[in-house]
Formats: sequence, C-alpha cells, structure tokens
Amino acid sequence: MTNPDRLNRTDSSLLIAEPTGVFSDEMDQQIARIRRLGRRLFGVADCVVTLGAAARDCAGEADSTASVETAFCRGLPVPDGLVVVPDARIDPSLRRHLSVAGAPYIRFYAAHPVRSSDNIAVGSVSLVDCVPRTFSSEDRQLLADLTALVERELHLKSVSASELDLQKKNRNLQRKSLIDPLIDTWNRGAIMRILTIEAERCGKIGVPLSLIVVDLDYFKKINDTYGHPAGDSVLVRVAGRLRSCIRSQEALGRYGGEEFLIVLPGSPQSTAMAVAERLRQAIASQPEAIGDTLFNLTISAGVASTELFPSATTEELISRADVALYAAKDAGRNCVVQALPD
Ligand code: GH3
Ligand code: MG
Ligand code: MG
Repeated sequence: MTNPDRLNRTDSSLLIAEPTGVFSDEMDQQIARIRRLGRRLFGVADCVVTLGAAARDCAGEADSTASVETAFCRGLPVPDGLVVVPDARIDPSLRRHLSVAGAPYIRFYAAHPVRSSDNIAVGSVSLVDCVPRTFSSEDRQLLADLTALVERELHLKSVSASELDLQKKNRNLQRKSLIDPLIDTWNRGAIMRILTIEAERCGKIGVPLSLIVVDLDYFKKINDTYGHPAGDSVLVRVAGRLRSCIRSQEALGRYGGEEFLIVLPGSPQSTAMAVAERLRQAIASQPEAIGDTLFNLTISAGVASTELFPSATTEELISRADVALYAAKDAGRNCVVQALPD
C-alpha cells in the first residue's frame, strides 16, 4: 500500500479531503444519558445497557468500573422478548445466581432486547434492583421507549460507520487516481494540480515558485540493452533517489515516460538551481545495477522560476523549463540549465 509520506511530499490533503467520522464517544455519552434516565424513571438500583460484540463499542461505562449489577446483566443471555423477574429468589433460573444468593442480593430484574435495524437482538436494556418489584404495563411501555432510544443510537452509529467506510473507500480511490502505479509518485494530473494550487498560493502571499523538469539521459538504451522490465525497475530507483533529495513542502511527479516535474513552492531560482544540481549529483554519483551489471546513469534538468518570469502562467513556466532542459541535452547532457528571460 502507498504510504502518503512517500508521495513526497506535498501533503495529500492538498488534493484529497480528509473523511469526517462519527465518534464512538458520542454514542457512549448518549448511552450514559439513557442509563441515567432509566435509573431515575424506574427508581431502580441500576439501568444497564448491554450490547453484543457486533454492536458493542459502548456500554456507557468502562469495563474496569463496571458495577456488580452491570456484570450481572452482561452475564445473562440476550433476551428475545421482554423478560420480567419480579423476585429473583423464586425464579428457577436466577435464584442460585451468585449476585442473587449473595451480595448485592439482586431481587428484581427486567430486560428488553435491543434490536438492530435487521431485527436481530444484539443486546438489552436491563433494570436491576435489590428489592422485589412489580412491573406495570406502563413500565413495560416505558422500558420499550427507552430501548428505542438505544436502538436509534445503534442505527445512527451503523449509518455513520458505513458512511465513514464509503468516505475511506472514496479517498483511497481518489488517492489511487493521483498516483503513478509504477514509480509511486504523483502522476501527471496530480502534479499539474499541485502546481496550479501552489502557484496561486505563492502568488497570493508574494513568494516565488520554481520548478524543475528532469529527463533521464539515453534511457532508451537501457530498455534496448536490458529490456523494458529492467528499465522499469531503474525508473523506480531513480524516482526514489530524486525523492530523497527534496523537502517535505516540495512535490515530485511523473510528467511523462522518463520525465519528472518537481514543484518548489516558495523557492527562488537560486534554490531551485541548487536542488536541481543536487538531483543531478544524486543520480550521477552512484552507478545503477541491473543484475550484476553496473552502469552509469545521468539526468538533465531545466529550471524555471516565477522570480524571473513573474507574469508567466504555469504552462508558460513549464515550457520555459522544457526549453532549458533541451538546452541541457544540447550541451551534452548530465547538466542543469536555468531558463532566463530573452
Ligand atoms: P535523451 O537523453 O535524449 O533523453 O534520450 P532518451 O533515450 O532518454 O530519450 P527518448 O525520449 O528517446 O526515450 C525515452 C525512453 O524512455 C523511450 C521509452 O521507451 C522509455 N520509457 C518511457 N516510459 C517508460 C517506462 O515506463 N518504462 C520503461 N522501461 N521505459 C520507459
Ligand atoms: Mg530521456
Ligand atoms: Mg524523455
């Protein structure tokens, strides 16, 4: 998977919106409110919301601070319908329970299933008290109403979760559409958008923007000699070397087959020339290897800056850098040429 940092290095948020999510915290708080409501409405020792693993993430209470009542409710099976135990001492399935036979001597228990949007019981809202109680039809309705509030929270959460999932998928797709699949840099469309955005930003704040066009020298020979796949792997390594020479606020993109465009927001011509020279040296200083064979690889580069062409459009600036690149090729390659006004 692509590490966004490697998209060197301009932050991908420049081109892709971050997804906004719904946070489990909100649901926890809402469940805690519902529990408080339940305790107050019914005047019971505790109102416990339990959610099974699929729906879980919340119970309104961290496990480490769970009360005995909470542990009691969580230990019981999820009910399929409303369960009311007016006095646990005479209930065949509960009377031997540790919390009934011993402290805190639970007596009353009522539970209503919490159903997911596809009608599966995924948890319960339970009432627990330490004295026996009756449970009227009005109480039953109130407990059903309280449960509906929990179900609504669950529903909201699942809607948000799928929305978040969709946003993430979209974002990955967007990111993929911006990256060159072979060399893992910005692709041509993305680097051009970065150039447009950065040129506008630099213009607004009154700082220069420079760019470097890089082309590999005699690259065709590598393909012809070692084959296209070997050429591909050289291209990947060259991109890696170029990437390691630029700073986080600068962006590297594949402009064409074996041509790269580097955008340097805020850099004057002299800085861009120094960076281009650094790139040239980074490639020329160490031979590349294909299998056991070592060979020298070089690049040529053209540099253009808004410092010298203040009214140039981005297309004109690229064209100036291109002309400089051709001059570098004409000058024998393995060199850097700057675009100067006519
Ligand atoms: P020059 O010094 O004048 O730039 O010579 P060159 O051979 O590098 O230039 P030319 O434009 O003639 O050839 C570029 C070559 O780059 C031709 C093409 O096959 C190769 N190329 C372009 N994209 C890829 C790629 O993705 N993988 C490989 N392996 N080769 C590529
Ligand atoms: Mg070339
Ligand atoms: Mg070329």
